[in-house]
Order: sequence, then structure tokens, then C-alpha cells
Amino acid sequence: MNESAVKRIAVFTSGGDAPGMNAALRAVVRTASHYNIDCYGVREGYNGLINNDFTRMGPRSVKNIITEGGTILKSARSLEFKNKAGRQKAYENCVSHGIDGMVCIGGDGTFKGAKIFYEEFGIKVVGVPGTIDNDIFGTDNTIGYDTALNTAMEAIDKIRDTATSHNRVFFVEVMGRDAGFIALNSGLATGAIDILIPEKKDSIEDLFATFERAEKAGKSSSIVVVAEGEKLGSIYDIAKATQQGFPDYDIRVAVLGHIQRGGSPSCADRVLASRLGHGAVVGLMEGRTNVMAGLKSNKLVYTPIEDAVKKHNDIDQHLLKISEILAI
Ligand code: ATP
Repeated sequence: MNESAVKRIAVFTSGGDAPGMNAALRAVVRTASHYNIDCYGVREGYNGLINNDFTRMGPRSVKNIITEGGTILKSARSLEFKNKAGRQKAYENCVSHGIDGMVCIGGDGTFKGAKIFYEEFGIKVVGVPGTIDNDIFGTDNTIGYDTALNTAMEAIDKIRDTATSHNRVFFVEVMGRDAGFIALNSGLATGAIDILIPEKKDSIEDLFATFERAEKAGKSSSIVVVAEGEKLGSIYDIAKATQQGFPDYDIRVAVLGHIQRGGSPSCADRVLASRLGHGAVVGLMEGRTNVMAGLKSNKLVYTPIEDAVKKHNDIDQHLLKISEILAI
């Protein structure tokens, strides 16, 4: 490789935490060390840049973290960074540490902040997509998504045991903000009779028709997976409407919530995080900036941050069709 375009980088985790962020941090720190680039960890995302919370990191600073969920650097949502005055402070702290490149690990909000910061102050930045929601364009999967999906699947499997024992109907809400990736894939993987996601137009009539079909098919218990961003209404409203339509049903609601963010990252997330953390540092060394490192069709690609935050990965409509066919 020619001479590196960066000599001293900062790395931080920002926005919602996701399993695998630590594995990405480890990859950034150790890749930097391998290429003799100084690396500083910044605690609590953009707040740490503003509050001057920088720590020099080396290979031993990230020992034993590849297995850990959460983020040892901690994460934060920083209101102050949304103001120019906050970003000015962040810039001055970067200058005082001699930082000429940054790796930010987070979701679309984190990338919006990174893009503005780069455009205002010119410190090179490469993003690494770390969010369970999988809602970032420019990568097939985001770090944390696979682990969250498996957590949701395991929880729904357990709910199925109790649903079957009591002939109950369960509505299970999974995370994903405005995206239905976790709902669609966990629903398919657990044999849900219906999957309600914001990317498709759902109606109570269609849902009732599904229940009627399930009854005719002799089903005595059912699971409906609902994305948290579902547009039809809250999971409680949907369950209430169903109870009115089917007074005999024994209906329960389960909101899986934050357990989906936690836990040791899956193998797929550790590998993805390792590849993207490495790719981010190499990208900075090659002089890339204002881009996000992602993996598409198993190849490392760099996508302009602007596209990563503005464009969307579409839901696989074929998966929806398959889940319908297999549900009855
Ligand atoms: P997740 O998708 O998991 O919630 P995220 O990165 O989208 O992660 P956000 O809280 O939306 O999480 O963004 C993280 C931080 O990025 C914000 O707290 C804020 O400091 C910064 N940020 C977001 N949007 C902007 C913006 N328009 N300008 C400057 N900074 C921003």
C-alpha cells in the first residue's frame, strides 16, 4: 500500500447499541495498529468528541471483547452535536489530539452527523453500519441484525410452546423501527401465520381472513409477528380489534423489546464486524472519506454516506409470498 492518507484516527460508537459493535471496534483498533496508525477511542459517541473523552487504544485495549454485546466505548444520542457550536467543540478536540480520520460505528443518524461534520471541518470519515434494524443502504446486512434476528426467533419459539399448550393467539412485536426486516425474517423462521410490516399495506380484513383460513385448516394456536413500525396501528389496537372480531379467541400480546439489542454477537455478526472494521481503516488509509463500508454479495463496498442514509434496501416481496404459502 502507498503511504497512508491518515496517521491518527478516532473511533466511536453512536446511536442505538447493537451486538457486534465491540467486534467492529476491535477490528478498527487492531487494523490501525497493524498499519502503524495511532488510534483513539472516544467514549459515548458524539458526546465524547464534544467532552474531549479520548483514550489511546492498542491491541490489548480490545482483548476479549469480540464475544461481548453492547459497546465498551458506550453509546449516546448527542443533542449538542446537532448544533454547530457543539460540532465546533468536537472539531477543536479532534485537532488537539491530531486526529485526521474517524471511524463512526452506528446507524443513519450517526452517519448524518458524520457527513455534516466532514463537510464543515474536513476530517476524513468512514462509517460502519451498526444497528439491529438493517435499515441502511449500501450493505446487505448491518452489524447486530443477525444476532437480533436470532434473539427474536428464539423468543418466538418459546412463545409458541405456551401458545400451543393453551390454544392461544399471540401477537408478538419485534424491533426494527420503520423497517420490517426483523419481523419478516423472524416471522418466516418461526412459522407465523401472518407478518405485519410497514413496507406492505396491511388491513384488519386481510388479517381476519388469515385467521379464518387458519381455523379452516384446523389450527388451534397462532402467532402473528408485528413490526414495531407497523402502520395499521399499535399491537394493542390490532389485538383488541381481533378480540372483537373473534370473541372466542384467547389472545395475548408480547412485546420483545430491548432483549433484541443484547447478547453475545452471532458468528455472522462477528465476521461482518471484523470485515467492516478492517475495511473502514483501509478505506481511510486509501484516502476515502464521507463513505460507509458495507458488504454486498459478500464483497466489501464503499457507498457515499449520502446514499446510505437517503436510499433504502427493499423488503424481499418473495419472502412475504413464501411466508404466506407456508403458514397454512
Ligand atoms: P439507531 O438506528 O440504532 O437508532 P442512529 O445512529 O440512527 O442509530 P440516532 O440517535 O438517530 O441513532 O443518531 C445518533 C447521533 O447522531 C444523534 O444523537 C446525534 O448526535 C447525531 N445526529 C443525528 N442526526 C444528526 C444531524 N442531522 N446533524 C448532526 N448530528 C446528528
